[in-house]
Amino acid sequence: MSDRATTDTLPGAAPDAAVDGLAAELREAVTTGVTRPRLYRAQQLDGLIAMLLQHTSRWEAALAADLGKSEIEAHLTEIGLVVSEARAAKRSLRRWMAATPLATPLALQPAFAKTLPEPLGAALIIAPWNYPLQLALAPLVGAIAAGCAAVVKPSELAPTTSALLAELAPQHLDPRSVRVVEGGVDETTALLEQRWDLIFYTGGARVARVVAAAAAKHLTPTVLELGGKSPAYVHRSADIPAAARRIAWGKWLNAGQTCVAPDHIRVDREVADELVEELRRATAEQLGDPRTSPDFARIVNGRHLERLRGLLASGTAVVGGDVDEADRFVAPTILTDVDDASAVMQEEIFGPILPVLPVDGVDGFIETMRDAEKPLALYVFARDRDAVRRVERETSSGALGINIAVAHAGAAALPFGGVGESGSGAYHGKHSFDAFSHRKAVLSKPTGLDTLRMIYPPFSGRRGRLAKRLLG
Ligand code: NAD
Repeated sequence: MSDRATTDTLPGAAPDAAVDGLAAELREAVTTGVTRPRLYRAQQLDGLIAMLLQHTSRWEAALAADLGKSEIEAHLTEIGLVVSEARAAKRSLRRWMAATPLATPLALQPAFAKTLPEPLGAALIIAPWNYPLQLALAPLVGAIAAGCAAVVKPSELAPTTSALLAELAPQHLDPRSVRVVEGGVDETTALLEQRWDLIFYTGGARVARVVAAAAAKHLTPTVLELGGKSPAYVHRSADIPAAARRIAWGKWLNAGQTCVAPDHIRVDREVADELVEELRRATAEQLGDPRTSPDFARIVNGRHLERLRGLLASGTAVVGGDVDEADRFVAPTILTDVDDASAVMQEEIFGPILPVLPVDGVDGFIETMRDAEKPLALYVFARDRDAVRRVERETSSGALGINIAVAHAGAAALPFGGVGESGSGAYHGKHSFDAFSHRKAVLSKPTGLDTLRMIYPPFSGRRGRLAKRLLG
C-alpha cells in the first residue's frame, strides 16, 4: 500500500475496504437515472470547470511541486485544455446525445432505424503522472458527458496534484457519480477486481497488460492510452530551422515527459549536421539556460532521473548532457553517434534526451518502421509532397504530424489514441463522448401494416419464393 491514505479510508485501513463495492455503488447512479438528464451532465461539467477555475493558483502550485511545470505550461497543457474540453462538451451535449437516423433496407420498410447513445455505466479512469491533471480529468469530461459515473484514480507519482483532486472533487462534483480514489498499485489492484463497465487506462504498456487481464475477467471493454517510441523523420527537403524549432518545442515540453513527444529523430544523412546545429540554436532560443529557465520542467522523481542518466551513455551529448540530482534536473540533451542497438533506442525515453540518427532517404526511414512497434505518433518534416505521401501511406501510428510535432493533441476534433502496442480506443472532443457510450441499434416498425407477413413461415409456394428473394 502507498504511504498515503486513500480518500475514503482512515490511514492504515486496507485498500480493499476503501474501494469495496464502489463500482456497484456508482453503477446505481446510472441505472437509477441520476446521471442521465442532460441538465445533470451540464451541471457536473460546470462543477468540473469551477473546480479548475476557482482554484487555479492551487492547481498551478501542485503542478509546479510535482513536475516543476511553469504557469503557462500548466494552462496550455493541463488546466486550460480540460476547461475547453468541458466547455465544448457542455455546448455539444444536445447534439451528441441525439439519436442518429439511419437507412432501413427495403425488405423491412416501413420501419425506422437509428442509433441511440447510452452511457456504458460505471467507469474506472486510471491516470499517469506526466500530465496528472489533464489525463485524469479529460477522460472524466467524456464520462460525464456520456452520462456515466466514474472513479478517477490519479497517479501516486504526482502526489500533490492527486491530493488536490481528492480534496476538491467532492466540493464540486456529485459524489453519487464521481469519486477520486488515491493510491498506487494496491489500491488500483483492488479497484481492478471489481466489475466496471469501462476501464480507461493511460500509462505504460506493461501495466496496460495487467489492466487488460483484469478487464477480461468481467468482459469489460477498455480504452488503453499508451506510449512508445514516436519518431520524427526529417527529410532533406524539410525547412530545417522550422523543423528544429518545432521538434525542440515538442521534445522539451514537460522535459520530454510527454507521451507524444518526439522520442528520437531520423534525419536524411546529408542534412544531419545542419539539423543538429538548428536544434542547438532552437534550444538556446527557447530555454536560454535551461537550469534557470522557468519554462523547463523537472523529472518526476529520482528513479526516473537515474533511468535517464543511464541512457546518456548511449551516444555523444552534443548539447546538454548534465544532470543535477538535487534539483531533479536533466538538461535538454541532443545525442549523436547513437546505434539502434543502444539502450536509448530500446525503450521509450520519456525525458529530455533526443537521439539523432542518420538515415538514407524515405526508403531508409520506412524500413526502420517496418519491424518497429506502432507508435502513438509519428512526425514527418518535409516539403517534398511525395516523401510526405509515402510516409502517410506506408507507416502506421496513432497519429501523424506533418511538419509539426505534438500539436495534434490540442485539436479536439481529431481522435487521440494509439494503435497496436501504443493502445486502443481514442478520445478528445466528441470521441470522448463516444468512448464512454454504447451506440444502441434501434429498429422500430409500425404495426398497422404487417409487411413482414411474407417472411413468416410456413414457407411454401409463392410465399417461400418471395421470402427467399427479399431476404437472400
Ligand atoms: P504511472 O506509473 O503513473 O502508471 C499509470 C497508472 O497505473 C497509475 O495510476 C498507477 O498507479 C497505475 N499502476 C502502476 N502499476 C500498476 C499495477 N501493477 N497495477 C495496477 N495499476 C498500476 O505511469 P507510467 O506507466 O509511468 O506512464 C508513463 C507511460 O504512459 C509512458 O509510456 C507514456 O507514453 C504513457 N502515456 C500515454 C499517454 C496517452 O495519452 N496515450 C499519456 C501519458 C502517458
